[in-house]
Amino acid sequence: MANKDAILVYGAGVSGLGAAEVLAKAGNKVILYNDEEKEIDQELYELLEANEGMFCYGDVPNLLATVKTFVISPGISIRSPLAEKAKAEGIEVISEVELAFRNYHGHIAAITGTNGKTTTTTLIGKMFEALPVKTAVGGNIGLALSKEVEGLNEESFLAAELSSYQLEGVKNFKADIAVVLNLTPDHLERHHTMEEYGVIKKRILNNQTKSDYTILNYDDKTIRSWGEAVTGTLCYFSRVEELYEGVYLQDGTFYIKWQGDKFEVCHKDELKIFGSHNEENVLAAIACGFFAGVSIEDMKRALVNFTGVEHRLEYVTSIDDVPYYNDSKATNPESTIKALESFPDGHIVLIAGGRDKGTDLTEMMNLVKKNVDLLILIGEAKERFEAAAKEAGVENIVIVKTFSQAIARAKVSAMYPQVVLLSPACASFDMFKDFPARGKAFKEMVLALAES
Ligand code: ADP
Repeated sequence: MANKDAILVYGAGVSGLGAAEVLAKAGNKVILYNDEEKEIDQELYELLEANEGMFCYGDVPNLLATVKTFVISPGISIRSPLAEKAKAEGIEVISEVELAFRNYHGHIAAITGTNGKTTTTTLIGKMFEALPVKTAVGGNIGLALSKEVEGLNEESFLAAELSSYQLEGVKNFKADIAVVLNLTPDHLERHHTMEEYGVIKKRILNNQTKSDYTILNYDDKTIRSWGEAVTGTLCYFSRVEELYEGVYLQDGTFYIKWQGDKFEVCHKDELKIFGSHNEENVLAAIACGFFAGVSIEDMKRALVNFTGVEHRLEYVTSIDDVPYYNDSKATNPESTIKALESFPDGHIVLIAGGRDKGTDLTEMMNLVKKNVDLLILIGEAKERFEAAAKEAGVENIVIVKTFSQAIARAKVSAMYPQVVLLSPACASFDMFKDFPARGKAFKEMVLALAES
């Protein structure tokens, strides 16, 4: 029988490449496998070979013959045929996050939710920078966790953004501070039901004990109900209710009430980010910073200096006093709803559409009817979006063929006090490589229009 001494890393994306490198550097025999052909760095290639490993793709006979551990990239489902085969052969299948956890002995703040993860994680990372220890940010945010933990030690604090994909294959993983922002239907194409999606997200609370903290959104009914069965020390946050104990917003000020003490952190008007959704993200970040030991002053400094994350309600420029906002990251209706609610005075020229995720549009279109002056539709989803908009009584709808036509059309119509908002409520893959490419294209075109 073949010697079971190899670790297979499935998927040569950011996380897979990072995991393969870290494992090979530690002297492991690593088989980096990708479904499709892919060019990888010569250096990594040589590192793999130096440890008797290799990179391979496509149809590889006996791929699992020497494999003892199977590390799966977040982009690939744990139910994929290769992972199922590995499990059936008794091979341990773990996620890249679990691998990172096994190689790291410092503190972890883990953040999950359907929306707001990157914003909250980035903000928490900024707060952690004030701690007198090494800190890092990683995970779904686009950096491989297993690589990010390399330079850290036992005192370190890591802010890890975890998507449901990454939580699929965790076992021993435990967060010192776990944050759950919200739960709405997204990624149902992979997780099938909301129940299953919730069960997977809940894994972020795995193995927590009373000396760990569980930070939950009081305003999200499902997430609030999780509080009944947590094993960590529970802290709720709320945008709408003054909590007996927890972190909340009252008359525009962020407060912490904990074990008889009350602290005032800052007022929302001091922030550069806006919108009720961002207030929730701020509340979650404050709770997380507090339990990690960041002082109130340092939290405040991080908060007032935070300008947000690219492609999330990002201000681009103004043309004839009409501001343009890039919210390309809004790939589901919930995110677009948040963007629409962020302009309570309405007067929005909205550009939406892209690759359709088949999500329910009723609530979003009701808000479009209320807050949007002109709806410009693009991409594969345009007909379904148009039908849903009409159903909700939206009258001003324009359908265009290309992305640049959408922007040109917005420019022709928009006048002060209107705002132009790209918030597609769809994936980008029908027209772009990914949402950052869509956001970049939007910004370039808007800036070019501004100059002309
Ligand atoms: P994620 O990393 O979870 O995708 P981001 O921080 O990148 O979240 O934000 C993506 C989009 O989701 C934003 O453009 C915004 O429209 C929306 N969003 C951000 N925070 C929240 C929140 N707390 N609740 C609901 N929607 C949010």
